[in-house]
Amino acid sequence: MSEFNAVKGTKDFYGQEAFALREIENIFRASASLFGYEEMETPILENYALFARGAGEGSDVVRKEMYDFNDKGGRRLALRPEFTAGILRAIVTNKLYANPDLPLRYFYSGPAFRYERPQLGRYREFHQFGIEAVGVNDPLLDVETLMVALTAFSLLKFPSLKVKINSLGDEKTRTSYRDALRKYYADKLDVVCEDCKERFRLNPLRMLDCKVESDHLLSLDAPKLSDYLSEESKARFEKTKAYLDEFGIAYEVDTSLVRGLDYYTEFIYEIHAFSPSGKDYGALGGGGHYDGLLKEVGGPDYSGVGFAVGEERILSLLDEFGLRKNEPIVDVILLPIGEEALPYAQKLANEVRLLGYAVETPLKSMKINAAFKKAERKGASLAILFGEEEIKEGKLQIKDLAKAEQKEIMRENLAQTLDEFFQKEEEE
Ligand code: AMP
Repeated sequence: MSEFNAVKGTKDFYGQEAFALREIENIFRASASLFGYEEMETPILENYALFARGAGEGSDVVRKEMYDFNDKGGRRLALRPEFTAGILRAIVTNKLYANPDLPLRYFYSGPAFRYERPQLGRYREFHQFGIEAVGVNDPLLDVETLMVALTAFSLLKFPSLKVKINSLGDEKTRTSYRDALRKYYADKLDVVCEDCKERFRLNPLRMLDCKVESDHLLSLDAPKLSDYLSEESKARFEKTKAYLDEFGIAYEVDTSLVRGLDYYTEFIYEIHAFSPSGKDYGALGGGGHYDGLLKEVGGPDYSGVGFAVGEERILSLLDEFGLRKNEPIVDVILLPIGEEALPYAQKLANEVRLLGYAVETPLKSMKINAAFKKAERKGASLAILFGEEEIKEGKLQIKDLAKAEQKEIMRENLAQTLDEFFQKEEEE
């Protein structure tokens, strides 16, 4: 293996794929903006302790997947494995909680890092978009966050999504459920995996999503969280479902849904994509409500709710469904005929750009057929041809590449011709 290979689990994005990834992000930004969310950008680097507290010491994300290290000053730092803890830290650092207009509503996007086994749709550096709404404890706000995600998916024209929901209950629920789990697993500790022994100690809830087959089978007979929901949590979940019904959001209650991060309480959700044949592609994103997290990182005792989606996963599904559109690299291609037309082409290229249309500077004169093939590869919809004669007479040949129609215009009518053509193209 060469030391110049890309790091395992990372991926380069360039050209159309980079554009498509940015487009996904832009659509999520647009959706969040429609709901009144503002952007927040926090550092990739945070103190290790923030994530240990936030995502939970018992979670796989913290125990096994964090890129953590000591910097040259001996500080224990981590590359963010998720955004929520950092966003809440920023709310505390900048005292944003003192805002009279609660809830705070923020969206974010950028890379996150997890030392996971790379496989299809799973990277060690990946991109997330997400939102957090903090400072008001209301099932209506919980549902709002799900609506932000669903609005973005509908703007992306995403087919066959399924929303899975569950309630993790309040602190009272979780305390009695943890006790029940410890009781269930107490005489099975010699058969569970090493990780689960640790999970038993730190947070037995995490034993339920163990990927070891025998542990998974054991978890099927474990007590169900839904049987331990407090009266308050039950009522809250019912109210949440009533809002979902009212807004026409289809969902499936999945009592096995727990999510991988420890801070969630009450309402949680995941958005799954399905193939036309009904195959579950897994979660494109998920989120939910959290009660103690802001206090945990030094702020007031406000609750919050949010979700994150994986941009790479959305991109690969857009490809699978044939929904990815290629973006034209240029609008116009210039075809100088003969080397003498080249200097003229440079001036013309600048003029076209000043009119707001993308065009490459032609570096050589090309054979007509090769030039048209290149125009197609670059996504141009219009070609401008000119040789010695056109230059002398102050004319240009304009070719509509899709319709293969060509007409001659006077050079001084270029702006008007381009504007008319592209306006018509947009309307069609
Ligand atoms: P989570 O923060 O675990 O709730 O993840 C939210 C979303 O991020 C998931 O549903 C995935 O779409 C995406 N995601 C999480 N981990 C990875 C990964 N290792 N590679 C690519 N996408 C990921």
